[in-house]
Amino acid sequence: MLGGTFDPIHNAHLRVAWEAAEFMDADVRLVPANVPPHRDQPVATADERARCVRAALAGQQRLMLDVRELGREGPSYTVDTLVELRAEIGDDRALVLLVGSDAFAGLPSWHRWREMFDLAHIGVLTRPGHDGALPTELRTKIASRRCPNALALRDSPAGRVLPIPVTPLEISATQVRQLLAQGRDPRYLVPEALFADSRLLAPYRTTSAST
Ligand code: ATP
Repeated sequence: MLGGTFDPIHNAHLRVAWEAAEFMDADVRLVPANVPPHRDQPVATADERARCVRAALAGQQRLMLDVRELGREGPSYTVDTLVELRAEIGDDRALVLLVGSDAFAGLPSWHRWREMFDLAHIGVLTRPGHDGALPTELRTKIASRRCPNALALRDSPAGRVLPIPVTPLEISATQVRQLLAQGRDPRYLVPEALFADSRLLAPYRTTSAST
């Protein structure tokens, strides 16, 4: 799973998720957060963001939209989602939480973060602009968990950490929102499908510049 605010989804989300899927030979679920706990609240509603993700994913089978967090009240804690997914797939199957390297460095601020290692592996997607520095408690936690390759992830259901090298794409949703708020088009930073229906990006065009 790749969780995120997806406010809105952009081409780097799609490309890194795609490359991770190929790297692991697995499908990837994109899981938009309803109420992201670690940041300012999104510009678009959860439904609006999910609609953009759905449009962006049309025409392929490997990446899927998973709306489970949209139905949950309160902060969308990733650990709760992992508990649900683990219950669905059983105890033995490997489950991988994908996070960008920037998000991974902030893991110790996530709710019940240590438990996540009991529920899933963590695949860390390289992201330009992040130097890879990790806080000491995270470095200590993962010291014995580093996984040599994607195949080895299948040997256990959870607990390993695997760097996943992906094409460096310096695109952020912040940049996309800023362009839209300035009345400019984020053409080629977001998938073409988001322009096909003028309602999809409308929430960003009508707000003032937001970071
Ligand atoms: P914002 O600019 O609003 O903070 P964002 O572009 O970081 O948004 P999120 O929805 O917060 O997008 O990201 C979801 C996940 O995708 C996070 O784990 C994040 O690190 C990862 N991610 C986002 N953009 C990239 C990128 N360009 N390269 C690699 N990973 C990325």
